[in-house]
Amino acid sequence: MSKYADDFRRAGREAVDWVADYLENARQYPVLPKIKPGELIDALPASAPEKGESLEAILKDFRELIVPATTLWNHPRFMAYFPSASSPPAILAEMLAAALNTNAIHWKTSPASTELEQVALGWLRQWMGLPEEFFGIIFDTASISSMHAIAAAREMADPEARENGMRPGMVLYASDQAHSSIEKDSIALGIGRRNLRKIESDSEFRMRTDLLEAAIERDLAAGKRPFCIVATVGTTSTTSFDPLPRIADIAERYGLWLHVDAAYAGAAMIVPELRPLFDGIERAHSLVTNAHKWMFMPMDVSMFFTRRPDILRRAFSLVPEYLRTAEHPRAVNLMEYAVPLGRRFRSLKLWFALRYFGREGMIEVLRSHVRWAAEFASWVDADPRFERVAPAPLSAVCFRFKGTDEENKAIIDCVNATGKFFLSHTVLNGKFVARLAIGNLYTTRQDVEEAWELIRSTAPR
Ligand code: PLP
Repeated sequence: MSKYADDFRRAGREAVDWVADYLENARQYPVLPKIKPGELIDALPASAPEKGESLEAILKDFRELIVPATTLWNHPRFMAYFPSASSPPAILAEMLAAALNTNAIHWKTSPASTELEQVALGWLRQWMGLPEEFFGIIFDTASISSMHAIAAAREMADPEARENGMRPGMVLYASDQAHSSIEKDSIALGIGRRNLRKIESDSEFRMRTDLLEAAIERDLAAGKRPFCIVATVGTTSTTSFDPLPRIADIAERYGLWLHVDAAYAGAAMIVPELRPLFDGIERAHSLVTNAHKWMFMPMDVSMFFTRRPDILRRAFSLVPEYLRTAEHPRAVNLMEYAVPLGRRFRSLKLWFALRYFGREGMIEVLRSHVRWAAEFASWVDADPRFERVAPAPLSAVCFRFKGTDEENKAIIDCVNATGKFFLSHTVLNGKFVARLAIGNLYTTRQDVEEAWELIRSTAPR
């Protein structure tokens, strides 16, 4: 047996045991590390070793230096932002994918990775109740998925852009609650922040369609070229839902590409009683959902679906001679639908996890998260010292202590300083607002209850 295989087998067992213990006992670790900036750098050698070290020594330092310096996103009491949790089947698949280390540039370089991506996304498309015509492709993040959507929208409106660069005056619409990635994508694609219209949202943080329509009319009258609307379902601050059917009507009336950012909320499409929240999504040209947010997959797996893969391909297909392969009607070359050429085997973890949980298993976990968030919201409502500041249709709740911003900040800081929970904040209507979001596979109702107890006991009497 080679030294490599021997070392791997021995240390691999140790690593698997560590992972299993960590997943079972993560509550024993502080979710936020007590570490100052630069401390880890100072604790590590300034130069890499001349002679190789044992995997056991490296694992020991992983446990003793790296883990204590880590914000534990995969912790049942990580309730900040949108939790991004992983699960045993997906962790295993990540290891196997690293072992095969495929690069799915085109079909021939990795038939399994290319085809499993189509299969796993096809399964999810069915679970999410999307029409069969939606073609799926995996990117790293929602930011990049949305960038491809906006580029495809530009291709639909201005096919010359690929050769000549974009025509001036192209305008994109999203709500004032849209994720900052849409703004960054506008910067990256040369649309310009000034040509992203941030449409005001209503009292429940949903895009106002009367203002959307008025903005499009105003732009047309000014000789501009509206080309795309980005609707968000499950906004980052409050998980509000833009009114998809009315937005789809407008997109269709004006011939605009409709992209739906469902980065977090899209997971809830598989829960039958929540699916009506997404009515109208089937009319979108494209949508994105991150499986690494609320589907128990490790970073990164952002699922991008479009019913116009022909336009996406037209935007990005560029095949140099050294990558040319024999054509076959069933051989999809994913590089033709994307900016990145290299493509890792992300679908393996989807396939492992979807099979391991099954649809019912996945629904059961999501349902319990939504139920506990509703309970948490009811506890907030019942306490006269607190108020809720937005509807909570899914697993995140926005709330505040009825006091100053400073008092609210102090509550969050004190809760986080215990190391027992990690909560985050947003600003709504100019006020500091606390957010609690549930999304870890190992979170229990008791975790949510204890979070509320700690918040209440931390608040001023
Ligand atoms: N869109 C929404 C609605 C989000 O909430 C987020 C992140 O939380 C993003 C996009 C960006 O996600 P990513 O980090 O995958 O780019």
